[in-house]
Amino acid sequence: MALKITDECINCDVCEPECPNEAISQGEEVYVIDPDKCTECVGHYDEPQCVQVCPVDCIPKDPAREESKDALTAKYHKLTGK
Ligand code: SF4
Ligand code: SF4
Repeated sequence: MALKITDECINCDVCEPECPNEAISQGEEVYVIDPDKCTECVGHYDEPQCVQVCPVDCIPKDPAREESKDALTAKYHKLTGK
């Protein structure tokens, strides 16, 4: 599953540089995650890095983007070419 940022985001900017896939960017009001680039950090880290650093805990899984571990791994390979 890709993750998403809710409107509780306080635009603190700490998550953006932590994403290994450059999936996070500033949106119109709050930060946003590109679901095509988010692998839940699969392939890079054991835990989602953005969730680890977010001070207000506003990055849940997006139920609309359900993906298996295999699908996330495949996305990682596609994104990195590895
Ligand atoms: S879970 Fe990982 S890949 Fe997805 S947005 Fe957060 S830091 Fe980026
Ligand atoms: S770390 Fe959390 S509060 Fe800060 S910009 Fe990212 S999603 Fe928003």
